[in-house]
Amino acid sequence: MITETVPFFRPSIGEEEIAAVTDCLRSGWLTTGPKTAAFEKAFTEFLGGGLESVAVNSATAALHLGLEALGVGPGDEVIVPTLTFTATAEVVRYLGAQPVLVDIDPATFCIDPDCVEAAITPRSKVIMPVHFAGRMCDMTRLRAIADRHGLKILDDAAHALPAHHQGVTVGKANADITAFSFYANKTMTTGEGGMLVTADPAIADRTRMMRLHGIDRDVFNRFTDPRASWVYDVAAPGFKYNLTDIASALGLVQLQRAKDFGRIRTERVTRYDQAFANLPLLLPPRPAEGDSHSWHLYIVQLKEDAPIDRDAFILALKERGIGISVHYRPLHQMTVWKPFCEGASFPQADLVFSRCVSLPLFMAMTDAEQDRVIEVVRDVLIGV
Ligand SMILES: *Cc1c(COP(=O)(O)O)cnc(C)c1O
Repeated sequence: MITETVPFFRPSIGEEEIAAVTDCLRSGWLTTGPKTAAFEKAFTEFLGGGLESVAVNSATAALHLGLEALGVGPGDEVIVPTLTFTATAEVVRYLGAQPVLVDIDPATFCIDPDCVEAAITPRSKVIMPVHFAGRMCDMTRLRAIADRHGLKILDDAAHALPAHHQGVTVGKANADITAFSFYANKTMTTGEGGMLVTADPAIADRTRMMRLHGIDRDVFNRFTDPRASWVYDVAAPGFKYNLTDIASALGLVQLQRAKDFGRIRTERVTRYDQAFANLPLLLPPRPAEGDSHSWHLYIVQLKEDAPIDRDAFILALKERGIGISVHYRPLHQMTVWKPFCEGASFPQADLVFSRCVSLPLFMAMTDAEQDRVIEVVRDVLIGV
């Protein structure tokens, strides 16, 4: 018997991407250069201007550089949702600061603003909301909380391109700094890559310098000083986080397709919603009124009256060749983060984790593949 398998994800790389990368390879310039400058400019334009984009080699790098530019260091606390990828918390440790994990709102999967407020201490410095699955956090409320307590906001938008809060694009929606990911399975990809965006020129300058060893080329006027091409100063112990032109060439093409990608995923979501309406499943959180969702992930939860539990559901899907994933095992359950949350409890994240499954959702998915996922899910849950 032939099993029709459907992967959890397959990237959408077309001839245009292949041609762009090939052109870059033939150009003689591989590392950060003209393609990266063009990618940053295009990214700023994609977000409607009015900010600066700093290309880096991962979202993790963007988060790290962002916290560094905000002056986070030993003794500071940074508020992070427990339901996220470990990168959101680990960058806090890179700087010797303390991640303070807080629970999520099960209706949104995003950081619960009430929990944020309850976690604030005199040491708090930054709030790091994660727009979970591409659903925007309540950035209006989080901004009000941050302003009341003198905190900064660095949002982890690894899932959220493109998405909007109250008509305003992610990247400009009340955060001081926003980090995007172009990891292979994100909503657009450069293989590996990320982008930091900010409207604050001082933060943009600091992160641009720190992404490349802390080298300060601006000490010389690059165009008039004949030594500028070879004399430079190092102003700080920086990092090696620059994006290659090979990656940026890929990113330039993917960015042009990002809106179409988003529309296609939204159509697939509508199809899933209709097909699953009468099953014992909780469908994914909707965007808030006035917001738009990037639909990076389609996450269902097994209801209490489902005939099988989450783990058995996953096993049944896997046996029938359906790729699944779980986003995420909460950080407070992980060995490395347990010592940071002794005595704390996270009932909502625990509940969501105990019953959630991410189903295949990607731009290159065919109707036949989605039909197959729907058929198997229905079959497993109601035996039709
Ligand atoms: C993917 C992801 C990251 C890390 O992105 P990289 O580009 O791989 O560093 C950070 N946070 C969240 C929520 C993610 O999903």
